[in-house]
Amino acid sequence: MSRISGVRLTVAAFLALVSTGAGWAQTASSGLPSDVRATASSLYKQALAGTKAFDIVRSLTVEVGPRPAGSKAHDAAVAWGLRTMKELGFSNVRAEKATLPHWERGAESGEILAPWPQPVHLAALGGSVGTPGDGIEAQVIEVPSLDAVDKLDPAQVKGKIVFYNVRMERAKDGSGYGRAVPVRGAGASRAAKLGAAAVLIRSIGTDNNRTPHTGAMRYQDDIEKIPAAALSNPDADLLAAQIASGKPVTFRLKLGARALPEVESASVVGDIPGREKPEEIVLLGCHLDSWDLGTGAIDDGAGCAIMMEAARRIGQLPRKPRRTVRVVLFANEEFGLSGARAYAEAHKDELARHVMAGESDFGSGRVWRIASHVDPAKLPLVADLAKLLGVEQGDNENGGGADLGPMAPARVPVLALAQDGTYYFDYHHTANDTLDKIDPKDLDQNVASWAAVAYAVADLPGDLGRAPEGQGRE
Ligand SMILES: [Zn+2]
Repeated sequence: MSRISGVRLTVAAFLALVSTGAGWAQTASSGLPSDVRATASSLYKQALAGTKAFDIVRSLTVEVGPRPAGSKAHDAAVAWGLRTMKELGFSNVRAEKATLPHWERGAESGEILAPWPQPVHLAALGGSVGTPGDGIEAQVIEVPSLDAVDKLDPAQVKGKIVFYNVRMERAKDGSGYGRAVPVRGAGASRAAKLGAAAVLIRSIGTDNNRTPHTGAMRYQDDIEKIPAAALSNPDADLLAAQIASGKPVTFRLKLGARALPEVESASVVGDIPGREKPEEIVLLGCHLDSWDLGTGAIDDGAGCAIMMEAARRIGQLPRKPRRTVRVVLFANEEFGLSGARAYAEAHKDELARHVMAGESDFGSGRVWRIASHVDPAKLPLVADLAKLLGVEQGDNENGGGADLGPMAPARVPVLALAQDGTYYFDYHHTANDTLDKIDPKDLDQNVASWAAVAYAVADLPGDLGRAPEGQGRE
């Protein structure tokens, strides 16, 4: 390596020492009062030595497993949440009603019929209609993007299966997801508008496993509903390779998916009551539901385990923080934010007293950045928290997570701990979302980080003000 990179390393090492060390950089900051910082710091260090979080997510994945919206298993997850929160020592543990959509996958299959017949691995997108019992048989046309389909002549599309071949890029911050995912949500109606018979998409995922990635899609009201499924990435490659031969490619798609009547279920809520201002709330959220294919370990059993264990550790302190730390296991995030909407509605009079909200819903990778959506005058506090955790400080426009969206109009301040998502989208929404993908040490680092942050905000003599107008980014 060159001499220049050697110099850079030295500077980087020096900056790392300054930002994470216990030296002048911390004592010179103006954010956290020293007693709050000391307790937050000891919560952080103790959690790194080992927590119950892995046991919690193991229990959820082993004893409940897949728990999609509307299923009996979602109710079993609610019962698990109530039982587990009580066992962990939370107060006021309760189920809060939410109305859930109910969609079932049924049996599904796909095969290339010509020019070279082969079965493929696919999964219906959540919310898709089914096919007739003997399937849909049609020629496939490939498009590279949503915009590309709009430019096609309806005569080319009518009666065909449109294949969206959009590849998601791997990134630590998961930013490839936001760029790729519109195809999943909107692809079916955009193709149906031109007369397509069905839609296939390349999985929104970064792996090369033969495990397709499901996820929610939605239909536009005034357009015919056509079936939509995701091919695993290797099968998307296979289909593209047959199409590249120039010979017409035909495909048979069979989806047994169907919508059923809505059902009543619930979010689960529990509190660690504050010692001085119990009516003021620091909310730690995650979502209780999962997709149906895996056991929902990283999405979002991990997040629930992290938040429950972080709050439990705060509850174990000899002196509780000034404010209440509340954990909400939101019902059905994946298929329409049912629990989040119900919570914001049921607690609308109380949202002005929610002094912070955070959500853990990005797997189990280590925390590497803290971002926010708080009164800009309070950013020195966030900077101090970043130092305490030894992580970067992100911008002040972060929405914190999908379940926090419905609370945004009440300007609830948000702190967001970004997790390393480099491998998250290898497993996300697949049958491969299972417990073995979680490293307990990474989970502990998340618990340590959230415990320190939630404690610090709950015990501040002041607060984080109110968030600026508007919703932060996801
Ligand atoms: Zn999730």
